[in-house]
Parts: sequence; structure tokens; C-alpha cells
Amino acid sequence: MSIKSLIRNIPDYPKKGIMFRDITTLFGDAEGLREVIDTLAGEFQDQKIDVIAGIEARGFIIGPAVALALGVGFVPVRKKGKLPAETVSVEYDLEYGSDIIEMHVDAIKPGQRVLILDDLIATGGTALAAIELVKKAGGVPVSCAFIIDLPDLGGADRIRNAGVPVFNMVEFE
Ligand code: 5GP
Repeated sequence: MSIKSLIRNIPDYPKKGIMFRDITTLFGDAEGLREVIDTLAGEFQDQKIDVIAGIEARGFIIGPAVALALGVGFVPVRKKGKLPAETVSVEYDLEYGSDIIEMHVDAIKPGQRVLILDDLIATGGTALAAIELVKKAGGVPVSCAFIIDLPDLGGADRIRNAGVPVFNMVEFE
């Protein structure tokens, strides 16, 4: 079965008019899960990645598996107030209001090459904030990778315009 057909579509979630792309069905399938991890690890195995930064919450599912496959470490990018030690933070705009993401200030060593991972890119706001966060922590954002891109929302273009390459496995309108 294709990756795309293993992703479940939930209409009107989390609110009316939104078609939510649910990757839990993809991760629940042994072959689907393996293909996701193998594809992401294969794409980046020659890019001298030092550490993977996974974005809460679904980036925590794929991040450590890809990190193990590449033989590198994993650091979490979390919503405000969840990390116990000293953090760096970046505020970013949402459709209504704003949000803050954080990373431990010592999670990345100066100059380390960082791969930013999440399940899906929509407007790109979250990933752009993660790029800033990696830079603030002293790392080099080498690339952003996602399972799903929603190209109509322009997020991947925003990331590329910011000078960071984007990789994704599937697209939905
Ligand atoms: P963006 O900041 O690019 O607009 O939104 C991306 C963030 O929202 C990601 O962290 C992603 O996990 C989450 N997200 C938004 N829409 C969906 C969706 O339809 N499915 C999933 N799995 N995540 C979504």
C-alpha cells in the first residue's frame, strides 16, 4: 500500500472546514512506518547531520527513529513551559494569536548541523520558528523534512525562501 493511502483523512477536525491528515494510521502499519523512516534516513545519510530536532508532538514519533538510523542524537522542540532546564525560545504568529516554542539552551553544540523534522508542513510558521530556534541555540539548520506538504498553503516555499532546503514524501491539496 502507498504511504498516501495509509494516511487517514478526517473532515472538520480540529474545526469545521479543516481536512486533518492523520498519520497515526500510517505509523500503525509496519511497512508504512518502515518506509517513512527508511526514506527520511536515506535522504539525509550523506548530509553530515549531527543532530535531529523534532517538533512537538508528531516530530517526536519520527525523530528518534530517524536519529537512530543515522547514528545521531535527538533533541525536542517543545511548546512553552515543558522543558525543565534553561531554554531559548521563539515566538511565532498563528491564525489567531501567537505561540512560543523552546529548546534547551545547551541542546545543540556550536556549529552542529541540524535536521528539523515534523510530520506535516502547512503555512510553515512552526518550521520557520524552529529554524530560528536552532540558529539561536548555535546550530546550523541544514534542512527541514516532513512526511506531508500542503503546497497550496505555501509553507515549503517560505522555508526555501529563508534559505533552508525542504524535503517531503507526499503532498495533499
Ligand atoms: P504550520 O505551522 O506549517 O502552519 O503547521 C504545521 C504544524 O501543524 C505541524 O506541527 C503539524 O503537526 C500541525 N498540523 C497542521 N495541520 C495538520 C494536519 O492536517 N495533520 C497533521 N498530522 N498535523 C497538522
